Amino acid sequence: MGEPTVGTTPPRVMTIAGTDSGGGAGVAADLRALAACGVHGCVAVTAVTVQNSLGVSGFHALPPETVAAQIETVATDIGLDAAKTGMLASTPIIQAIVGACDGVGIGGDGPIPFVVDPVAASMHGDPLLAEDALEAYRGLLFPRATLITPNLDEVRLLAGVDVHDREAQYDAAKVMHGFGSKYVLVKGGHLREDTEWCVDLLYDGHTFTELSGPRFDTGNTHGGGDNMASAAASGLARGMSVPDAVAFAKRYIVEAVRHSYPLGAGHGPVSPLWTVRPWWEEPTP
Ligand code: PLP
Repeated sequence: MGEPTVGTTPPRVMTIAGTDSGGGAGVAADLRALAACGVHGCVAVTAVTVQNSLGVSGFHALPPETVAAQIETVATDIGLDAAKTGMLASTPIIQAIVGACDGVGIGGDGPIPFVVDPVAASMHGDPLLAEDALEAYRGLLFPRATLITPNLDEVRLLAGVDVHDREAQYDAAKVMHGFGSKYVLVKGGHLREDTEWCVDLLYDGHTFTELSGPRFDTGNTHGGGDNMASAAASGLARGMSVPDAVAFAKRYIVEAVRHSYPLGAGHGPVSPLWTVRPWWEEPTP
């Protein structure tokens, strides 16, 4: 275990996502997770949300061309080793992202791995995506994704499949994979029949892999999906295969949920702080 290398550029990952004024999800969560996973985070903001631990009271989406320009200006100078999406807000924003990704080689036939986390609503049920944009996810984004990471609510919205047991989780993985991504990870956090374990299911069209971790009795899971997708993108940026990157992300998120904390009167966030060495307790050199 060495010290971080001084003066060496770490892998570079872009999050294409919305902000969360409460700091638990969205861009804030992504940048923290990316740092915790040892990569440099870049940002293309899609929307500014107004939210606290009790929910999202509104959002302001950015012009699609501003979203595309952020991607292009970073990719052509700083360069990217992976990208991931969070809240995308609308069909025109998704269309602009796809155009920019085509131009700079993110996903599809391009060299830059692309993780698509199909964020549709907050854990309180507040919408973060226009209803007509589900079709843009299915038709435009999934076919160019290296990995998609839906939770069970997103599976219901996108594939019309209600998952209540493991067998249905397998069926859902097949349906979601049919939209054209290389891999799908159907996350099992919302599967209530699993009381002790949280089982995520990875599928590449041939092989299923179950990733199992402990289930923690907590409501402080705000930003969990964002953290997991960012960790998976970090693994890919480090050159891992998709199964290895997903295992890396699972290990990270289990600890992030274990270290989650209360914040405000509602749902607190999962925490990347377990990765931070308490340097302030060490003597000043
Ligand atoms: N707000 C923003 C900007 C997000 O990107 C997300 C998730 O991606 C959320 C809120 C919802 O987070 P959660 O479902 O963990 O509450």
